Amino acid sequence: MAKTMYKVDDVVPKTGNYRCVICDHIMEFKEGDKFVVCPVCLAGQEGGPTEPHEDFWEIVE
Ligand SMILES: [Zn+2]
Repeated sequence: MAKTMYKVDDVVPKTGNYRCVICDHIMEFKEGDKFVVCPVCLAGQEGGPTEPHEDFWEIVE
C-alpha cells in the first residue's frame, strides 16, 4: 500500500518523524504545524529536486 506523502505547507496530520524521500533526511514535525522545505536537499523549494507542489515527506512508522 502506498504511503501518503506531503508537500510544503501541508498541515502535519500527527506528530512524528517524517522522511524526505529524496535524500532520506528524517525530521520531527508536530501535529498542526506545516511541512517545510527539506533543510538538507532543499526539496520543495523553487529550483530544488522537487517543485513546491510535489509531495516528498512521508511518515516513518
Ligand atoms: Zn531532502
